[in-house]
Amino acid sequence: MKKPSILLIYTGGTIGMIKDSDTGALRSFDFNNLLVRIPELNLLDCIIDTISFDEPIDSSNIDPKYWIQIAEIIEDNYSKFDGFVILHGSDTMSYSASALSFMLEDLAKPVIFTGSQLPIGDLRTDAKENLITSIQIASLQERNTPIIKEVSLYFEYKLYRGNRSTKINAEHFEAFASLNYPELAESGVHLKINKGALFKPNLKKKLKVHKSLNTNVAIVKLFPGISSQVLKAIFSAPNLQGVILETYGAGNTTTSSWFIEILKEAIDKGVYIINITQCSGGSVSMGQYETSIELKKIGLITGRDMTSEAAITKLMYLLNKNLSPKSFKLGYETAIRGEIS
Ligand code: ASP
Repeated sequence: MKKPSILLIYTGGTIGMIKDSDTGALRSFDFNNLLVRIPELNLLDCIIDTISFDEPIDSSNIDPKYWIQIAEIIEDNYSKFDGFVILHGSDTMSYSASALSFMLEDLAKPVIFTGSQLPIGDLRTDAKENLITSIQIASLQERNTPIIKEVSLYFEYKLYRGNRSTKINAEHFEAFASLNYPELAESGVHLKINKGALFKPNLKKKLKVHKSLNTNVAIVKLFPGISSQVLKAIFSAPNLQGVILETYGAGNTTTSSWFIEILKEAIDKGVYIINITQCSGGSVSMGQYETSIELKKIGLITGRDMTSEAAITKLMYLLNKNLSPKSFKLGYETAIRGEIS
């Protein structure tokens, strides 16, 4: 049987960083050193090839142009490899995994994001386990086809659906969670795959890579005391086309008339407003309380149980599809990559 071949794509992040001896700050180093530091990679039962960003970045500097770069690397190498492991900083990893999940339509191979909290050279590093297990999971096959066929994220013994994951801790090795969707796999003594939770793409379709995202968007998190001046300023931003409104609980907001008026005016001008909850888990249910009935009436779209990361990247993705308002709402409220329940 042919050994699976995996392409490791190094974008940057702590996983490939070293301490600068002069300043003490962490900075990226040459990717080739990464493989030298993990000789265990040679023991894996797969063929590994590597490719690196010319200038690896801290993931806080990620933006859509890098997502397009990653998508193009996958597109160019799609037929040559059985799976892809993307080394990425953890800070924005869930945004990137969500964005790529929308950009790679009809993906039938694993694309696994991973990184680490401690640099690979650190004695207590979590990088080795994350990297080795990600490659192992990407190599898993059944009847010569990959078991994982979606964009996912592996960190600290767990594989999550990428667009369901969120970074919850800046310090713990268990830095990610997926509160509204079960884990896709867990690594213990055995690698346990949660088959029922895996995304099942239509295998008759070919990979289609979408490379345009619309950044005329904003995320607005409500807080008690938010002023009309601030809200007006945001909604009068030139070219604004979509807003993710992070509301309270099951999708509730103040019922003050000035607030509803600002939202209504924006919707009438053609701005899409998506209601998602600022709670880490659970779902928006517009109309459940009096405080959200009006939102439904004026035309807010429900993001139900989507993460902020999935909500904003889905907005960027769908805005460039030139959909009618009706199709946009329908498309947004429908699961396209397993991002919404
Ligand atoms: N600041 C780093 C980054 O996101 C943190 C990490 O790699 O985990 O690139």
